[in-house]
Amino acid sequence: MASYTPMIEQYLAVKEEAKDAFLFFRLGDFYELFFQDAVLAARELDITLTGRAGGAEEKIPMCGVPYHSADNYIARLIEKGYKVAICEQVEDPAAAKGVVRREIVRVVTPGTVMESKSLTDEANNFIVSAAAEGASYAIAACDLTTGELYVTSCEESFDPLVDELGVYHPAEIVTEAAMTEQLRNRTASWNRLVLLSERAPMDKDRLEAHFSEDQLSGLAAIRVKAVALLLAYLDETQKRSLAHVRSVRSYEPSHYLVLDPFTRRNLELTETVQSRSKKGSLLWLLDKTETSMGARLLRRWIDKPLLSRDPVEKRLEAVDKLCSDLILREDVRRELDGIYDLERLVGRVAFGSANGRDLNALKQSLRHVPALRELCAVSGSATLAALVARIDDCRDLADTIETVVIDDPPVSVRDGGLIRSGYDEYLDRLRGASTDGKKWLADLERREREATGIKSLKIGYNKVFGYFLEVSKANLSLLPEGRYERKQTLANAERFVTPELKEKERLILEAEEKMVDVEYRIFMELRDHLASQLHRLQKLAEMIATLDALQSLATVSAERRYVKPQLTDGYDLIVEQGRHPVVEAVMEGKPFIANGTALTAEEASMLLITGPNMAGKSTYMRQVALICIMAQIGCFVPAKSAVVPLLDRIFTRIGAADDLIGGQSTFMVEMKDIQIMTSKATPRSLVIIDELGRGTSTAEGMSIAQAVIEYVHHRIGCKALVSTHFHELAHLEETLPKLRNACMAVRESDGDVTFLRRLVPGAASTSYGIYCARLAGLPERIIDRAYELLEDANAGHASDAAIDEAEGTDGETAARKQPAYAGAASGALLQGSAAREASAAAEDAATAAS
Ligand code: ADP
Repeated sequence: MASYTPMIEQYLAVKEEAKDAFLFFRLGDFYELFFQDAVLAARELDITLTGRAGGAEEKIPMCGVPYHSADNYIARLIEKGYKVAICEQVEDPAAAKGVVRREIVRVVTPGTVMESKSLTDEANNFIVSAAAEGASYAIAACDLTTGELYVTSCEESFDPLVDELGVYHPAEIVTEAAMTEQLRNRTASWNRLVLLSERAPMDKDRLEAHFSEDQLSGLAAIRVKAVALLLAYLDETQKRSLAHVRSVRSYEPSHYLVLDPFTRRNLELTETVQSRSKKGSLLWLLDKTETSMGARLLRRWIDKPLLSRDPVEKRLEAVDKLCSDLILREDVRRELDGIYDLERLVGRVAFGSANGRDLNALKQSLRHVPALRELCAVSGSATLAALVARIDDCRDLADTIETVVIDDPPVSVRDGGLIRSGYDEYLDRLRGASTDGKKWLADLERREREATGIKSLKIGYNKVFGYFLEVSKANLSLLPEGRYERKQTLANAERFVTPELKEKERLILEAEEKMVDVEYRIFMELRDHLASQLHRLQKLAEMIATLDALQSLATVSAERRYVKPQLTDGYDLIVEQGRHPVVEAVMEGKPFIANGTALTAEEASMLLITGPNMAGKSTYMRQVALICIMAQIGCFVPAKSAVVPLLDRIFTRIGAADDLIGGQSTFMVEMKDIQIMTSKATPRSLVIIDELGRGTSTAEGMSIAQAVIEYVHHRIGCKALVSTHFHELAHLEETLPKLRNACMAVRESDGDVTFLRRLVPGAASTSYGIYCARLAGLPERIIDRAYELLEDANAGHASDAAIDEAEGTDGETAARKQPAYAGAASGALLQGSAAREASAAAEDAATAAS
C-alpha cells in the first residue's frame, strides 16, 4: 500500500464524496486536480499534465487552473457533460494546525448550472428525475434558476413519460440504479449529451420539512418519490438554500396534446432540423415577448399545446382582445418592456447571490405592475381581468428596496456605498464622522499652507502610512524645524504626521471600516426579508409571464392577419385558405399560395397526395399540423377561417435530415415510427406520413404503403395526410370510402413545368421526375432514354396507367366524390385549360392572401 502525504490523504477522503465529478481542490491560488481526474482534465481542457510527489514512490499526476479564471474551465467541462465539485479551504491557512481543512462547497452540474454561456435567458435549464415503483413511473423537473418544479406520472408504463421527458430537454437526469439502463437506451436517440446520475431519494422527514404540508399531501406516492430524488440531488450538489423551490406543480400528461420528439423536430416547433437554431422555427415566428420569463413560458406553451378546451378558449379570448385592440396591446407591451427577469432575480435572492443592482432591477420591475394590473382589469377581456384579479403587486417590497438601496449601487455588496442615507441612523453617524474627518483634513491643509507659506503642501493617504502631510524638497527650507514628525522620505518630497492627524485618522478609518460592515449587514437583512417573500414574487412573475406570452401571440396574430380558430370537440378539421406560418413569413415578397383542408368523418378523413418533388406536398402537410398546434396553444391561425377539433396526438413521419440515427436504415426508422403510430394513434389523432414506403424495393414499398393506408383507414379512423411517390396507389380511392386523392397542380407548356402550389383533386401524372432530372442538368441522352423507358413501362402497366389517366384527367371522377380540400377547382386537370384555371385560382388565392 502506498502511503501518501497528509494533504493527499485529505484529497482522497474528499474525492470519496465526489466520485462522479472532477474534484477542483483548492491549493493557494490554484485549483488542482490529481490522479485520474488530472489525466482526463488535462486532455479535455488542453492544459499541461505534471506530476507531484505525494508520499508514494511514483509521482501523482496533477494539473491545475488559477482560481481567478476557474469559471471558464468549469464552464467548458459542464458543456462537455461533466460535473465539477469545488473544494475550498474552509479555515484560515495562517491559523490552521497541520493541513488546512477543506470541504466541497458546491457541485456544478449541467442540469444545475446557474451562470453559464450555454444558459440562455430564453430557455429553461431543466434537471429531471425519473422514479419507478412496480408498474408506476414518475418524472419531476426543476429549473434551479427560476425555482419551477413540475411532476407527473403514469400508472401503467414508462412509455408515455418518455415523450414527456423529452419536452424538458434535460441536460441531466437523476434516477435510481434500477432505471439507469432503461433511461440510457431511451435517451440514446436524442442525439445530445444527457448526464445520468444515480441517487437515493431524500428521506421523508427532510422532504416534508422542505415543502409545506399542502404541497405534498395530494400527491401520489410515486410522484413524491420523483420529487424526493430530485431534491436529494439538488441538496447534495448545491449545499445552499433551495428556498425558491417550494411549490410543486403536478399535472397529467393526458391534459396536453402528445407530440413525440420526432414530430417536434419534423415540425420545427422550437428549432429547425438543419441548423438546430431557433431562427426559422414556429417559436421564432411566434416570439414577440418582451420579457425573458414570457419567452420561456411561450416556449413551454409551444412544447405543450393543451388538450382541454376550457384553458385554450381562455387564452384565445385574451389573444382576441389584445389582437383587436392595438392601443391596449401597445400599452401592455410598453409596461412589460420595463420588466426584468423576475424569476431569475428571485432565484438569485434565494441563492444569496443577488447584489444591489439585482434588487434595483427587481424594484424597477415591480413599479410596472400597477399599470399592468389596471390595463388588464379594464381591458374587457375576462381572461386578462381574472389574471390580475387577485394579484399582489408587492408594492411594499419595491418601497422597501427604494428606501434602503441607492439608485446606482456598485456591483459588490462588500465594499459599502450602496445604502441610502437617512435609512439607518448609526450608518449616517459613521458617515458623518467620516465626512467631518475629511473636512477637518481639508481645513488642516488650508491652515498649514497659510501658516507655513508653502502653497504646494498637501495632505495625502496611503495604505501603509495612513494620512500624511507632504512637502516637496524645494520647500523644505520654509518648514520650521520640529513642526511635524518626519515619517517617510521620497526622492523629491518628505512626508510628515502630527499627533492630531493620527487621532483623526483613527476616527476616520474606524468609521469607514464600520460603515462597510454596517452596510453589508443592512443589505443582508434586506435580502433575507425578500427571500422570506419569495412565493409572492414567484406568483407575480408567473402572471407577468402569462400576460407576456398572450400579448406575443396576439401581436403575431395581428401583424400576420391570422384568424381566431373555432375549437370543437368534434372530428372535422376544416380550414379555408390555410397557409404555412413559417414558410409564408420567410418568403419575402413572393406570395404564399393558400390551400384549404377538409378532413371530415362523413366525407373524407384521409388524403393521398401525389406530385413531383418540390411541388409543395410536405409544406402543405406541415401547414395542416401547425395550424392545429397553433390553435391548441391558443394562438390565431394562418387561414381565412378554421374549425379545429382538439387533437390528442399528432404523429408525423416526415423523411428528414436525421434519418440515419444510430446506424439504422431509413426504412427501419420509418417502420419503427409507423409501428409507434399504429399502437398509439386514436380517432382523435392526426397522422402525417411523407413519402410512405420509400427506402425499399418498389413492390415491397408499395405493398407496405397500401397496407398501412388501409390500416389507418379501417382500424384507426383518424385524420390522415399521406404523400407517396407511388402513383399506382391512386386506385385506393376506389376501394377506401374515406380516402381521397389529391395532388399539387403543375402547369406544363412547351416542356416547361411551373409549380402552382395548389392542391387539387386527383392523382399526379408521373413524368415530372424526369423533368426534374433535366432541370438538374443531366445529359439529354439520359433524359431521352428515361422517357423511352417510362413509355414502355406505362404500356406494360396499362391498367394502372388507365386509372391514373382517369383520375388525373377526367374531371368527373374527382368531382364524383366530395373533394377533401376546401375551395379546390373542380377537376384535377394538369394540362391544358384546366391547368390555367388552377393557375388563375392559385393567383387569386395568393392575392387574397397578400
Ligand atoms: P415537396 O414536399 O412536394 O417536395 P415542399 O413542400 O418541400 O415540396 O416545397 C418545396 C418548396 O416550395 C418550399 O420550400 C417552398 O419554398 C415552396 N412552396 C411550397 N408550398 C408553397 C405554397 N403553398 N406557396 C408558395 N410556395 C410554396
